[in-house]
Amino acid sequence: MKCEICKNKIPEIFLKKILGTVIKDEKGKKHYVCSDCQKAHSSKEKLLEQMN
Ligand SMILES: [Zn+2]
Repeated sequence: MKCEICKNKIPEIFLKKILGTVIKDEKGKKHYVCSDCQKAHSSKEKLLEQMN
């Protein structure tokens, strides 16, 4: 699993849970974000902007 913003690998904890978050865009597509990028951007909208 890679972060879609910084392209770093997201560490997995147990049971396929990742150390980060999954956000859905307006089309319902899932995007993976690491915890560092999640902390750096305050809202889901800002995170999605970083991917474009
Ligand atoms: Zn990241």
